[in-house]
Order: sequence, then C-alpha cells, then structure tokens
Amino acid sequence: MKTKNVEYFLEKMPKTDLHVHLDGSLRLETLIELAKEYKVELPSYTEAGLKETVFKESYRNLVEYLQGFSYTCAVLRTPESLERCAYELAKDNITENVRYIEVRYAPQQHICDAMPELDVIISSVDKGLKKAAEEHNRTEAVTSGHDIPFTYGIIVGALRYFNRELSPYYAGLIDSLPHLRRKDIFSCASLELAYAAVKIKREKCIPVVGFDLCGAESGFPAIGHSRAFKYIHRNFLGKTVHAGEAYGPESMFQAITECHANRLGHGTFLFDHNAVSDNQIKNPEEFCDSLAEYIARRRITIESCPTSNLQTIPAIENIKNHPIGKMIDKKLSVTLCTDNRLISNTTVTEEYKKVIEGINVSKKQLRDLVIAGVKGCFYHDTYAEHRAFVRLLINRYVDLEKEYLNDFDNSDIV
Ligand SMILES: [Zn+2]
Repeated sequence: MKTKNVEYFLEKMPKTDLHVHLDGSLRLETLIELAKEYKVELPSYTEAGLKETVFKESYRNLVEYLQGFSYTCAVLRTPESLERCAYELAKDNITENVRYIEVRYAPQQHICDAMPELDVIISSVDKGLKKAAEEHNRTEAVTSGHDIPFTYGIIVGALRYFNRELSPYYAGLIDSLPHLRRKDIFSCASLELAYAAVKIKREKCIPVVGFDLCGAESGFPAIGHSRAFKYIHRNFLGKTVHAGEAYGPESMFQAITECHANRLGHGTFLFDHNAVSDNQIKNPEEFCDSLAEYIARRRITIESCPTSNLQTIPAIENIKNHPIGKMIDKKLSVTLCTDNRLISNTTVTEEYKKVIEGINVSKKQLRDLVIAGVKGCFYHDTYAEHRAFVRLLINRYVDLEKEYLNDFDNSDIV
C-alpha cells in the first residue's frame, strides 16, 4: 500500500457486507462462554487453544474449514444465544464502519426440542440486530449527521442437504422416513423455510429480505430447490445462491435460470472453463464468456469472499490468481464480503486490504466495489428509501475520499 492514508481510508470508509454467516462469525470469547453454559464440548476452552485446533489462519481443505461450524451451531440453539451473537456481529461491523449488513444463516440448523419454531429462530436474530442498530442510530454522530445510520437485512438459507452434525433435527427426520427419497426431503424442507420466511416478513414485519441456498454444490444441484425459490420469487423477496464456490460455472447458470438468483454467492469459478463438467455444453469457453457477459449486463451482484475462497480452494494459492481482478476488469457488479468472520479470521476492512494489496485497483474501481454492495443489497424498505441510503453512503464515501485519497489520481492505489 502506498501510504498510511489508504489504510486509514479503508478503515473509515462506509462499507457493506452482503454475505456474512451468523454461525461463522461468532466472537471466540462468546463461543467459549456459551459452550461452558450449554455444556457443549470444545477441543479447548482458551482462545489460543481454539485457534490452534479449529479456527486456523489457513486450512488444508474444505472439511477442515467446516469443522468450526459444528461448535458454533451447537451453542446457537436458544433464543438468547441467537440474539446475543446477532447483536455482537452487528456491533463488530459498526465498529469497523460497516453500515449495512445482510446476515444469513440456515434457521433449520438451529431447530431443536427446546426451540422448534422457525419464527422464534428468525425473530431472535432480528432482536439482536435491531438492538445494535438502535444503539448506533441514537448516537450523537448519527443524529448530528456526522455519521450514517446502520441498517440490516436477514437472509434465510435453505440447505442443499442436511449434515448430521449441523442439522440433527432434519438428519433424524431422514432416518425416520426411509421410504422417502433424501432429495425430496431436502426439497420439502426448503419449501417449508420459504413459506416461513414470507409469513414472518409479512406478519411480524421482520426484515427478512432474501432467501439463500447453501451447502455442498456437487451432487446437490440448485434445481432441486426450485419450488422454494419460485415461491420466494412470487412473493418478491431477494434471491441469492451459493454458486460457483466449489463447482463449475453451470452451477451459477442454474442458480440464475432455475432459482431466479438476483445475486450470486462467491462465483469463484465463473471464468474457469476447465471446471465445466456438463456434457451438454459443447463449447465451455464460449459458455463462460456468455455467462459472465449476461451476469454483467443484468447487474447480478457477485458477493466475492476472497479470504474464504483462498482457504477452501488451496489451488488459488494467492489473491493474484483469484477471479476478483477479472471481475473488476470486466465491470461486473461485484462487492467484497467476509463469508465467516470467525472461521475465515477476517473483517470487511481486511478483505479490502487484501484485494488492494494484492491486485491493481484504481480509485474508481475501489469506489465501484463499495457502491456495488449498497446498490446490490436487498434493502428492506421502499426503493425510494434504498436510493436515499445509497446517496447517503456515497456522499460519506466521497467526503472521506477527498480527505484521505486526494493525492491519488485515478491510477492504481497500491
Ligand atoms: Zn457463504
């Protein structure tokens, strides 16, 4: 980085995070405290011990990366713990000047005998986020117009399949219904969640702004969940799908064409024609080019999570090999996200630092990355309110840009 000013700017600039998993973003001290309270066994009860055994700087593979979720999900099975962790997540974002987040999680992973209702699971998270937002929005800085308010949305995530450790309730259900095909159960569970999301949004006025699909792409295609996405689509909620994270570009194609995705989580393999495995696609290079062009033209926002991708796809090795540079060059609507603040050991500011330090990014391209986040979000209020929030964030951004980046023309700020 050329000067200290750039670093200050990245910290101070108003940011968004459109792709952050609640269960991957707990504070480590909170996880330890809750594990003791709920008698959840951890491999260590010290932060250093957990960083050594579970929440590492780098991971050898996806299996190792996912291990941490079994501990975090296990402590998130009470309304109180969901509310607390949502509150802390919002507070941590506010501290680093993130002013809009969309918190996602899979409510069905949190179902247990003591908390069987989806609406309790969703409203508890809302309570925590709302409390943090209200605290910030009452501060002198915000009321006097020196800072901008913090706002949020909730994205509920359906699962491509139910992992026994993470979703014991549904895994048990599958065991008790051997005559049903597993994929039918997954599909019904997604539909159940879609119904609940729409109902809760409507009846409780909770900002459930979007619907997501997560879990292993390979062997569990998005098309199996198309009924749930159609229901969400017909009820005007936002749609995002984890796609192209661990599978070829055809997974992104399916998310857009079968699930009406307005946004895509990761999209890491978008340009990788060698990752195309569908035999129907006769010219993989042309397919990737056309798909990228379509995504660019339709302004389908890509939620890029570079640190997470580097950890789960070791072959990328270095940010210079990550597709974020190409996405920026091709003028896609792409923004930076954390994915999992705890598990990936990152923050939104860190994601920006990593990209700025690793690839050539101009002042305008940096601005575009941030603006893509606020424009591409599934804002909970009216379109007019969304536009006003976009303007507020851009004005704040431009003011800070003048203060910290005035020495830079539009050449690369590295
Ligand atoms: Zn994710």
